[in-house]
Amino acid sequence: MGSMIAGTSQMVITPPVGVDLCGFAGRPGPSQGVHDDLYAKGLFLADQSSEVLLLTADLIGLSEGDVAAIRDLLCQEIGLPADAVMVSCSHTHSGPCTHCIGGLGDWDEAYLALLVRKIASVGIMAAKHAQPALLGWAREPARVHINRRQHTDKGIKLGVNPEGLTLPWVDVLVVQTAPGHPLARWFCHAAHAVTLGSDNLLVSADWPGFAQATVQGAEPGATALYAQGCCGNLNSDPRGTFEIAQRQGWVIGGAVLKGAALAPRTGDVVLDHAAQVVDLPLQDPPSVEEAEQALAARREARDNAPADTTYQMRKTLDWYVRWHENLLAVTRDGVIGRTIPFEVAALRIGDAVVVGLPGEVFAEYAVNIAHRSPAERTIVTAYTNGNFGYVPTQAAFAEGGYEVDHAYYFYLPSMLTPDCEKLILDAAEAVVRSLFV
Ligand SMILES: [Zn+2]
Repeated sequence: MGSMIAGTSQMVITPPVGVDLCGFAGRPGPSQGVHDDLYAKGLFLADQSSEVLLLTADLIGLSEGDVAAIRDLLCQEIGLPADAVMVSCSHTHSGPCTHCIGGLGDWDEAYLALLVRKIASVGIMAAKHAQPALLGWAREPARVHINRRQHTDKGIKLGVNPEGLTLPWVDVLVVQTAPGHPLARWFCHAAHAVTLGSDNLLVSADWPGFAQATVQGAEPGATALYAQGCCGNLNSDPRGTFEIAQRQGWVIGGAVLKGAALAPRTGDVVLDHAAQVVDLPLQDPPSVEEAEQALAARREARDNAPADTTYQMRKTLDWYVRWHENLLAVTRDGVIGRTIPFEVAALRIGDAVVVGLPGEVFAEYAVNIAHRSPAERTIVTAYTNGNFGYVPTQAAFAEGGYEVDHAYYFYLPSMLTPDCEKLILDAAEAVVRSLFV
């Protein structure tokens, strides 16, 4: 038996009823109740030379500023270095608005301030509860998603593309106490948590919440932690009701249970962490004249919105105006060559590596990073350590579609450039290789 220790913790982070739910412009109103609680959860692992902390949260995402605040608290309280902490979100569209997305609902600042402290608290408690443990890995076939980039005569639209790439598996990190009791099942499957649509006004963790509840119900004592995968172009499928989300939870939760049952365990593991920040270029703004025309069109759309425009769409139309006012200011100032700092993080856990990327990353990244990784198992989580919006492939930039042409209004002052794929893949390979020398 090795010298590894592990600890877990969880805490309810459900927002107060009445907050705006985040993810759809079509919402008819703010939240009216709670269907199922949202959680933050932590899994702390340590050996004699290194410590790592996997945090998960049933949220649409977290800003890099809030992640930095969580990491600062953990560094102060338990001395963890920033890149030993990985914070992954489930991307539920039935949770509260957070600082990472603008224009799809208003933030509740008091709630978000407490949220940061709660997520850090979960990490602190997980570390304080650490006990001798064993771990193992499994990958089980299962999927509740479909590629959503549908090719039409008018280009790519948000729909279903049965021929498109999918990632039909669930990765499972199994942790048990030294005497053999279940301790944690951290798992990753890629599927936008959008089974519940814009008509739902109840707080819910969507299908990932049902999957976590399935595992915890079947294995009392186990903490089930869900990290979203590279689902930038993968939607849950089918969609529509809580009953469907429940069934998807059984499918993925059942695969987690099977993987946990079969995975060989060891206490003799190497733990390590590394990260690299890559500056991703943003597209330069248009001419002043184009920016003025775009702003005028946005004002016209807002001021002449039809009477049946939804609660949320009215806010979104107002956001577009403010976004274009900022764009015009940048254009007049002649600002070009802007970049955003994009952190590529990796945790080595035994013969596996977990790569964390801060955005709505396309599924191709999971395949291509694994292809270039020296690790026996490579798991790529998205919505991790921040959320800068969609990260398409270079090829997808040429095709266009919502993720390339529109969604950046909710995230960035302008869209990334097509060379982001090469920069991210090169950084990911370098970070992962640094953990396996
Ligand atoms: Zn999304």
